[in-house]
Amino acid sequence: MENGSGKVLKPMDSEQLREYGHRMVDFIADYYKTIEDFPVLSQVQPGYLHKLLPDSAPDHPETLDQVLDDVRAKILPGVTHWQSPSFFAYYPSNSSVAGFLGEMLSAGLGIVGFSWVTSPAATELEMIVLDWLAKLLNLPEQFMSKGNGGGVIQGSASEAVLVVLIAARDKVLRSVGKNALEKLVVYSSDQTHSALQKACQIAGIHPENCRVLKTDSATNYALRPELLQEAVSRDLEAGLIPFFLCANVGTTSSTAVDPLAALGKIANRNEMWFHVDAAYAGSACICPEYRQYIDGVETADSFNMNAHKWFLTNFDCSLLWVKDQDSLKLALSTNPEFLKNKASQANLVVDYKDWQIPLGRRFRSLKLWMVLRLYGSETLKSYIRNHIKLAKEFEQLVSQDPNFEIVTPRIFALVCFRLVPVKNEEKKCNNRNRALLDAVNASGKLFISHTALSGKIVMRCAIGAPLTEEKHVKEAWKVIQEEASYLLHK
Ligand code: PLP
Repeated sequence: MENGSGKVLKPMDSEQLREYGHRMVDFIADYYKTIEDFPVLSQVQPGYLHKLLPDSAPDHPETLDQVLDDVRAKILPGVTHWQSPSFFAYYPSNSSVAGFLGEMLSAGLGIVGFSWVTSPAATELEMIVLDWLAKLLNLPEQFMSKGNGGGVIQGSASEAVLVVLIAARDKVLRSVGKNALEKLVVYSSDQTHSALQKACQIAGIHPENCRVLKTDSATNYALRPELLQEAVSRDLEAGLIPFFLCANVGTTSSTAVDPLAALGKIANRNEMWFHVDAAYAGSACICPEYRQYIDGVETADSFNMNAHKWFLTNFDCSLLWVKDQDSLKLALSTNPEFLKNKASQANLVVDYKDWQIPLGRRFRSLKLWMVLRLYGSETLKSYIRNHIKLAKEFEQLVSQDPNFEIVTPRIFALVCFRLVPVKNEEKKCNNRNRALLDAVNASGKLFISHTALSGKIVMRCAIGAPLTEEKHVKEAWKVIQEEASYLLHK
């Protein structure tokens, strides 16, 4: 095969990989060195790239220099810099040298580890690192790979909740009969991530059977067990079948923590599957002083945290533990002739294809293993504690300014705050907070995002980017104050 320039294409030539790989690492290292020079939130307009790139792919090879020039001139302006130390929006999506190296190694090995036999190390390393992390989180033994439990890496918390919802659905339908789908009821608080709603849509749960239970500031947006109990009792009386509860440790809007033990008791009593979404805050629970927030996890059937959020493991790496791997397998396994092999047939191994939606899967455990080995758990704890300390400092700065208020008490490293209303005019106050958010983000100096709590528009400052230091937090607050002062005196 010729590549059009008269040369034979060698797509994985080791010497070219060495040369280009070094240049790409240099390019990325330079990017990190200068990351603070870019506007944190991309300032381009929709469709900008169409104007800059040709309408069709090149017929003949171009040089790496040409491509990198285009990355600099055309791609980077359209990038929002999630790794910037002044990125405080949504929740962080950590990268690190260790995570990056793990990704690189995974790309380099290029395996597809759907069954044990397709790369035994991929399956076994995943089991081992998930056991390591389960130990760090002090999860109950039943979540470890020794018995019928175990951990698996999913692409996202959305996939995690979908696979356990499907496992729970099929488990209950096996016992009550497959025609009962329309009777199955799912419970969560109104603070639960929309990933659950999407999972219900995919799993065929009837929308009128999704109980979204109201929370408010009195419990700092945590779900009240009494509300759950009332809803479950009502549904039972109506002949419906409560089968799935999703609780949160660290909600997306405000890091609310649901009372797991009390909720779990209700779920267990009613033989419901109990899933805990700790996508963001799970990482903090490796610190003994934050472990209390997952007390009660022993009553759960599944537990999820995103190592790609706040655990230095490059996206994507969502960790899911279950107590009953059989339920997952019964719902998700297939066994076509073309995948049959001795180890699987003899039931000697885990085949992770049966624990997830796609067949193919990357060697994602490598990057988590690299993070755990190159940093060690004590360093990772300090890393988390430092962000929480910075968030405390930011919270103090906000509370010292009479124009602002803290909207919900801070638990981890997210601060929810807003400009206070003047003369109780909530609507005007919401507009003013929206305007402030836009002004701050248009400055390019930092990026924060928002949510709504009890109808209030609230700004969220989530501290957790790997490069963030005290000076970035102070500078962010200065910009917010300056923009606020301009807005208030306009
Ligand atoms: N759950 C919580 C608490 C989240 O904060 C998020 C995302 O921020 C999700 C679920 C969804 O995460 P993913 O993008 O991994 O599906």
